[in-house]
Amino acid sequence: MAILWPTPLGVDEYAAAGAELVVPRLACPSCHQPMIRWGSYRRDVRLVTLFQLLIRRQRCRPCGRTHAVLPGFVTRGRLDAIEMIGPLLEQAANHRLVAELARAIDVPPTTASGWWRRFQGRAELLSVGFGRVCVATCGLVPRLSGTDAQVAIGAIRAAFVAAARRFGEQVGTLWRFANAVVGSELLTTNRNPSWSSA
Ligand SMILES: [Zn+2]
Repeated sequence: MAILWPTPLGVDEYAAAGAELVVPRLACPSCHQPMIRWGSYRRDVRLVTLFQLLIRRQRCRPCGRTHAVLPGFVTRGRLDAIEMIGPLLEQAANHRLVAELARAIDVPPTTASGWWRRFQGRAELLSVGFGRVCVATCGLVPRLSGTDAQVAIGAIRAAFVAAARRFGEQVGTLWRFANAVVGSELLTTNRNPSWSSA
């Protein structure tokens, strides 16, 4: 299992801190008890260049489960940081050519088209999930139209605007916010993530 730690740290800051970085003890997603620190592993993340991260693990004693604590920029199952993926998806939803977008940020076209295909496949799920966030945050259902991907992007943006209005700067940037809402599962195959249920 993996959970997301919504740190404001940049990829470079997290990577540079290495083993010195103190990651707070998070609550177990199942029983909400504080977890204990439980080792780490190495993982690469690409944000233009490649960074090596030390991902911490934490363990819930009552549940006996161990969770990887992913910093807010990690996109689960992908090498690239959310800051690379999110803006490309937005532009692709606006009918820009994925191959051209990939070239502009120096990512292999097959990688970018993989993001785009998965996002399109999850667009409806994401629209519903972020629509619920909107309702929970400001009481309003966003009115959106367009393709499934455009509606999903619109719902993400609407939820972000509502959250930023209510909670201020701590919400962070658009795609960090989106990644935190979905627990880093923007582009996974999980069809029944916790954020999609009411
Ligand atoms: Zn637990």
